[in-house]
Amino acid sequence: MPVNGTHLVLENYIGGEFLPCSAYIDSHDPSTGEVYCKVPDSGSEEVDAAVKAAKEAFPDWSSRSPAERAQVMNKLADLMEARLEEFAQAESKDQGKTITFASTVDIPRSVHNFRFFASSVLHHTTECSQMDHMGCLNYTIRSPVGVAGLISPWNLPLYLLTWKIAPAIAAGNTVVAKPSEMTSVTAWMMCKLMNEAGVPPGVVNVVFGTGPHAGDALVGHPDVPLVSFTGSTATARVITERGAPYCKKLSLELGGKNPALVFADADIEQCVATTVRSSFSNQGEICLCTSRIFVERSVFPEFLEKFVAAARKWKTGVPSDVSNNNGALISKEHLEKVRGFVKLARDEGAQVHCGEGVDKLDLPERNRGGYFMSPTIITGVTDSSQLMQEEIFGPVTCVTPFDQEEEVISRANGVRYGLAATVWTRDVGRVHRVARRLQTGLVWTNCWLVRDLNLPFGGMKNSGVGREGGKDSYHFFTEVKTVTIKQ
Ligand code: NDP
Repeated sequence: MPVNGTHLVLENYIGGEFLPCSAYIDSHDPSTGEVYCKVPDSGSEEVDAAVKAAKEAFPDWSSRSPAERAQVMNKLADLMEARLEEFAQAESKDQGKTITFASTVDIPRSVHNFRFFASSVLHHTTECSQMDHMGCLNYTIRSPVGVAGLISPWNLPLYLLTWKIAPAIAAGNTVVAKPSEMTSVTAWMMCKLMNEAGVPPGVVNVVFGTGPHAGDALVGHPDVPLVSFTGSTATARVITERGAPYCKKLSLELGGKNPALVFADADIEQCVATTVRSSFSNQGEICLCTSRIFVERSVFPEFLEKFVAAARKWKTGVPSDVSNNNGALISKEHLEKVRGFVKLARDEGAQVHCGEGVDKLDLPERNRGGYFMSPTIITGVTDSSQLMQEEIFGPVTCVTPFDQEEEVISRANGVRYGLAATVWTRDVGRVHRVARRLQTGLVWTNCWLVRDLNLPFGGMKNSGVGREGGKDSYHFFTEVKTVTIKQ
């Protein structure tokens, strides 16, 4: 690997080759605040070259059978799995997440993404309908679209990137991907395995750089007819405007302000244990994290006491220490933003029960410049407060009591986001009633983050447009055509 002084230096992967860039961006280790890696600051020149390579590779790749494409993808999955520890260490250092989370969630799920879409592409069927009265038979065929532009965020770097690359290439597209410039290392490591896996040059291209620079060039490129984007709602607006003149196909997976609805008949022990995970896992930097907890008034004191006690046991510290549950947040700017919400809570007269400004973090000397914050629980905020309306994307959650089922549904729906909700109750009738009325793309009952990749994933309202997952990803990454035959 190229090393400049003590820094790791990444290169773009275009047309099967690693190419240096004329400018680089510093990437920090979030657990120390030190620069440790240089990431290409690519622009339209690099994006043009990558799109050209992807276009040239498209005729051959798209004409291969799904089984041939699946074989290559399975080989890539095997190669990644064989280096799971190496990938996990790199993801942990680059993102600040714990080594435990990277090695049990990020990297295994990245491997699984390739295996899952390699398998699912073998089993899709298309539609057929008879019109006997007209003497006609109709059927549909699906074809890959072309060069897919894939843009992913920094919170689950390789996991969300492979969630896009795998279905795109399984369906026969070629891709140009741009990971977040803050977390590019594992994407670059994956590129190192492409050749050995048998991925033909140009099928997967990765261009590193910033959103406004490389990302914008990719989204605005006339030869990129579809864009799959995961990131913030604000960036999605820019991307939508940029793609509109070309009528691009867009899939947008965006932010959330996810509620938990805890009814008095819930198993409180299980609810507390899972809600600590759903609120604070990966430093709260998951779009699906719970950030508003509505608890039925009769069990509110019991829930709060147990929840605060469990959050205090959720240890924050050096990411490489396996005894820690949380590591560092992604950047200094992001830490300041998250701290700003806690300050706002205090200014509004809310109560901060643990974490920021309450519990002291005990960090080794070399990690004092890192971006750490421990789980923070707040009560006494109004539903209209920014704390209950805006995505915080950090280890901060608000707890509030409710009295009626009708009331809590309306309050849970009272935000512009609609990604995921969790419902805690043993009443199966209530599960059906509440799930039907919640305005979210996902509803987990008595659990969190259980994912069957066959089923649609995505949000409504400001949380996204479109769905991804087995059949939905296949539909997004293909164009459908209806053929009618008169007999
Ligand atoms: P951003 O929207 O800031 O960035 C996401 C990606 O878009 C990055 O690669 C970024 O590049 C790029 N980008 C930024 N500006 C542009 C632009 N003008 N044109 C093209 N690309 C651009 O989100 P974050 O990285 O901060 O990620 C956190 C957000 O992602 C949260 O809102 C979270 O909820 C959401 N998210 C949603 C998920 C879902 O499935 N619904 C899953 C995970 C996260 P760069 O970083 O290099 O500037």
